Amino acid sequence: MSIAELTGIDVPTGLLIGGEWGKGAATFPVFDPATEEPLAEVANGTVSDGLDAVTAAQAALPGWAATPPRQRAEVLRKAFELMSARSEQFARLMSAENGKSLRDARGEAAYAAEFFRWYAEEAVRIEGTLMRAPSGANRILTVHQPIGVSLLITPWNFPAAMATRKIGPALAAGCTVVLKPAAETPLTALALADLLTEAGVPAGAVNVVTTTSSGQVCAAIMDDPRVRKLSFTGSTEVGRILLGQAAKSVLNVSMELGGNAPFIVFDDADIPAAVEGALIAKMRNGGEACTAANRFYVHDAVADEFIAAFSGRLKSMVVGPGLDESTEVGPLVNEDTRSKVASLVDGATGDGAALITGGRAPQRRGFFYEPTLLDGVAADSAILSTEIFGPVAPVVRFTDEADAIRWANASEFGLVSYVYTRDLRRGLRVSEALDAGMIGLNRGLVSDPAAPFGGVKQSGLGREGAHEGLLEYTETKYIATDW
Ligand code: NAP
Repeated sequence: MSIAELTGIDVPTGLLIGGEWGKGAATFPVFDPATEEPLAEVANGTVSDGLDAVTAAQAALPGWAATPPRQRAEVLRKAFELMSARSEQFARLMSAENGKSLRDARGEAAYAAEFFRWYAEEAVRIEGTLMRAPSGANRILTVHQPIGVSLLITPWNFPAAMATRKIGPALAAGCTVVLKPAAETPLTALALADLLTEAGVPAGAVNVVTTTSSGQVCAAIMDDPRVRKLSFTGSTEVGRILLGQAAKSVLNVSMELGGNAPFIVFDDADIPAAVEGALIAKMRNGGEACTAANRFYVHDAVADEFIAAFSGRLKSMVVGPGLDESTEVGPLVNEDTRSKVASLVDGATGDGAALITGGRAPQRRGFFYEPTLLDGVAADSAILSTEIFGPVAPVVRFTDEADAIRWANASEFGLVSYVYTRDLRRGLRVSEALDAGMIGLNRGLVSDPAAPFGGVKQSGLGREGAHEGLLEYTETKYIATDW
């Protein structure tokens, strides 16, 4: 079946450079993780394509930066409307190339479109400041100007939302961009670029280069002095490499990196609510989320009740191809991801953890892994210090609040932490003590275009979403003035 028949959307498969869809000399295949069959062939961009995209973005920059904010806002608003109207097609496309369940994909399509709406609203609110210098000698005027041509690198786990979370604020601020999506899921990015063209984004303001040579292509783009910004979402490992490269030209960077979220359930928590929150925090996107709850610290007094309810729900989840309406858990994105998940589970049981449910890959085609819950996980087990990126919940029991906080913070990551307690004072005290950029307090979901998303420690630099996300694409200029 063709992509158009499968998803209802005709996806361009070339490179978008300067408003033209080029073919590229070579192509690479995109696979359906549920069937392991190829879905489409996509242009394999080269270093020279990447540099052509920079040329196109640079040529479009003065015009787009000078476009009145209201007009930029209206283009983004139109993109929101088009994407909302086509959310079902986008959802099917993401299920096809990423494997996620349609339910998750519908959630992502709506969430991704919201970044266009939010930044349509923010585009007209790029404020400066004016104050009198403390000495009284002059005025201090500040303005936020577009930072310039921006390289946007996105991962495969949220192929639409990670792109709109960058393109929305970049365009709102008056920047032009080169988007480099993950080779696992380039189709969603290409469909988004097509939609943006239809919404009125001028030629060259958004360019897309798909490639299997991301290291070489991105290094060449980052070395180009016309490029002023890198916004990266992906693993901490690749983030570190890119930070090293960015240092050469002191490139402005925003980094949304890996996570290892603790999910703490206190003895005074509303347990049914904590189980609902755990299901969202663990199972959204089949566990392939940077915000996924990676370690469950549960008070011993409520651990049996929590584990019985949580494992019961995990056991009853329908595992199957993302495009099947009944599926709740789709396949993992590829075989590497599945083997990593399986070896972490085997390592934990080898270290003495009890397998409560799951723990195996079903006998079928596709990169499936069963929802899994482990109890009594050893404190030094690798599963607690590694980003699992799969449907596996390791539980560690605690009795003392201070231990829970200490263990939660014993990680180089610090993206998000979840806390369940009925005691607001405890909830806020613990929230302040946790090393994380975001806290879900009695909530299993923190993502919101209106909120500043981002991590501390090795989970990243900068914020996406909210007004902060817009400022990442601006430079602050200070004008000392007198009158
Ligand atoms: P990844 O392997 O780091 O790849 C991310 C992107 O970087 C892809 O487009 C990839 O392209 C590209 N890339 C890989 N090596 C590169 C290099 N040397 N130079 C330039 N680009 C390079 O991450 P992933 O496996 O796609 O995504 C999962 C990771 O993303 C997890 O760690 C997750 O926590 C993190 N994530 C973080 C957030 C957040 O907001 N903090 C959100 C979502 C995901 P190719 O794959 O095509 O090479």
